[in-house]
Amino acid sequence: MSYTLTTDLATTSDETMSHSKPVTPFASETGDPFLLTPGPLTTSRTVKAAMLHDWGSRDANFVAINQSVLAQLRDIANGGDEYVTVPVQGSGTFAIEAMLTSLVPRDGKVLVLINGAYGLRAKRILDIARRKAVVHQTAEDAPPDLKKVESILKRTPSITHVFAVHCETTSGILNPVADIGALAARYGKGFLIDSMSAFGAVPLDARAVGAEAITASSNKCIEGVPGLGFVICRRAALEASQGNATTLVLDLHDQWSNFEKTGQYRFTPPTHVIVALHQALREFEDEGGVAGRGERYRNNCRVLIEGMTALGFRPLLAADWQAPIIVTFHMLDDARFDFQRFYDGLKERGFVIYPGKLTVADSFRIGCIGRIGEREMRAALDAVREMLQSMGVGGAGAQAA
Ligand SMILES: *Cc1c(COP(=O)(O)O)cnc(C)c1O
Repeated sequence: MSYTLTTDLATTSDETMSHSKPVTPFASETGDPFLLTPGPLTTSRTVKAAMLHDWGSRDANFVAINQSVLAQLRDIANGGDEYVTVPVQGSGTFAIEAMLTSLVPRDGKVLVLINGAYGLRAKRILDIARRKAVVHQTAEDAPPDLKKVESILKRTPSITHVFAVHCETTSGILNPVADIGALAARYGKGFLIDSMSAFGAVPLDARAVGAEAITASSNKCIEGVPGLGFVICRRAALEASQGNATTLVLDLHDQWSNFEKTGQYRFTPPTHVIVALHQALREFEDEGGVAGRGERYRNNCRVLIEGMTALGFRPLLAADWQAPIIVTFHMLDDARFDFQRFYDGLKERGFVIYPGKLTVADSFRIGCIGRIGEREMRAALDAVREMLQSMGVGGAGAQAA
């Protein structure tokens, strides 16, 4: 959707607009607002420009680009020859559903660790696919209880897999995947990780955490455009998974064997998305890979939390559990704080934030990921300050000129 100031001013019903100067939005290089959301995200101009060509899906150049993308994704997880990336056309959830329904056999049983919407979604996928599941659920602001996880594993030998979400984007919490992986390994279970919102920014070593598979997508910390999910699978698990799938399109084994045979997708690939992802990976390497990208996001997160705290907002999570991906803030406890007006005013100023999805608290979220840096975070904080001033709310920092 294109963003124009006139359209937004024309549709705003914000009463402050009648007696304040028109707002000049802080716009990205393409004039669009910055997406401070958990994806899709703001991408670079060069990533978008990579899509200005058409490729045939059987074109040798495209096949080579795709192969290089798949190898690079595996390398980000330090997978080596033991692992292989299987792409899945669609959003991230398509890849998660492909992972769960292809790698978990029909008589398998998954221990699902839930502390937010994405853990719940995995359980729903398993229910629909009629795979048995055991749940360990904690509050959205709390990590799994590892002692309880261990006791479930100890008393339930029929469990075949453990599923965990790396950064649970519902709250922004960083779940302890290394500790969970160690437990899964000790009890001989396959470890399946949804690393959608963390992959590329938070280190994740497939072999070190003992992952059977890791899923992520093109449009989060890798900063590509949406349209491709992928599963980085242990080759041996993939080889053993023939016949598990319950759908044709999400059958990882079939998708992978076709790549082995022909180098091609079984069904139309999102060619433009893949070529943009190739460019995004080049920019990712230029930035210093996981270390460089993680550093920029950690700085964004620090600037955001410090600035918002000074303006009177409280983050939901204890600092120890906060991933540098997205921050959940409590709504201001002040009757004059009107979230819709706040949201609309920030959008008008060039920043799209994200409503909360929590059950434990009334909240909203601001993302730290995408093609944004300290300058954009500080401009977003200026916009927040302006909105608080116009509503007459907030801490000392909000009302100081
Ligand atoms: C974004 C995200 C997904 C996938 O969502 P899609 O809308 O299908 O791309 C899955 N898990 C987590 C933790 C996410 O952040």
